[in-house]
Amino acid sequence: MLAKIFRFSIFLLIAMCWLFSQVTYAATSSQKKLIALTFDDGPSIPYTEQVLALLEAHHAKATFFVMGGNVKLHPEILKKVFAAGNVIGNHTYTHPLITKISDSALEKELTKTNEIIFKTIHVYPVLFRPPYGMSSSRTNEVLKKLGLKKITWDYMVDDYDYKKTTSEIIARSVLQHARPGAIITMHDGGTNRAKTVAALATIIPTLQQQGYELVTVADLLHISPYQNKN
Ligand SMILES: [Zn+2]
Repeated sequence: MLAKIFRFSIFLLIAMCWLFSQVTYAATSSQKKLIALTFDDGPSIPYTEQVLALLEAHHAKATFFVMGGNVKLHPEILKKVFAAGNVIGNHTYTHPLITKISDSALEKELTKTNEIIFKTIHVYPVLFRPPYGMSSSRTNEVLKKLGLKKITWDYMVDDYDYKKTTSEIIARSVLQHARPGAIITMHDGGTNRAKTVAALATIIPTLQQQGYELVTVADLLHISPYQNKN
C-alpha cells in the first residue's frame, strides 16, 4: 500500500513538473462545447474592426495574435479589441520564421512586441503564436525564458491565396473542423481579408446554433493570458 502511494506521489510530482514547465499548448478535448477562434497578423484596416463588430454582435470572444509592427500602426484598433474582452497574444514584431533567426533576434522580436502591447493596453501578453506555426526546442527555450506560452491550433483556415478561396469555402472548412475544445486559426491581417470577414458572418451564428460557446484561448486552456509586470 505504502509503495503504491509512493509511486503515485512520484507520478503526481512528474505530472506537476510537466504541467508547470509546459511551453506548448494545443487544442484540448473539452467536455463542454467550447471553441476558440484565433486571428493572426493584425491589427489591420478595415478587417480587424469588422471581425470585432461580428464578435460583439454575437457576444462572442476570440484571441488576437498581433504583430508588434501593426500595433504601432494601429494602436487605437488594439485598444478596441482589448476593451471588448478579447485576449491579445504576441505574434512577433515583423513575422519572421523564428527557427531561422538567432536567439537574441527572437528575444528582440518578442519583447519589442510585448512592450508595444503593454504601452498600448497596459497588459503584458503570455500567449504566443509562432509565425507559420514553425518552432523548435531552441525557440521553445527562448519562450520559456521570457515566460511565454506557445499556442498552436488544430485547424488553420487555408486563406492565404486570396484569389482561390471563397467565403463559402472558408465557412465550410471551419464548420467541418468544429469540435469541442478546438482552436481555429484565421487571419485578420496580412492581405485582403474580406472573404474571412464574410465567412465569419456565417461561422459565428452557425457554431452558436450548434450549441458552441466561442471563448478565448485563455479561457479554453485555463491559462492566465497576461504577466504581472511591475
Ligand atoms: Zn502570421
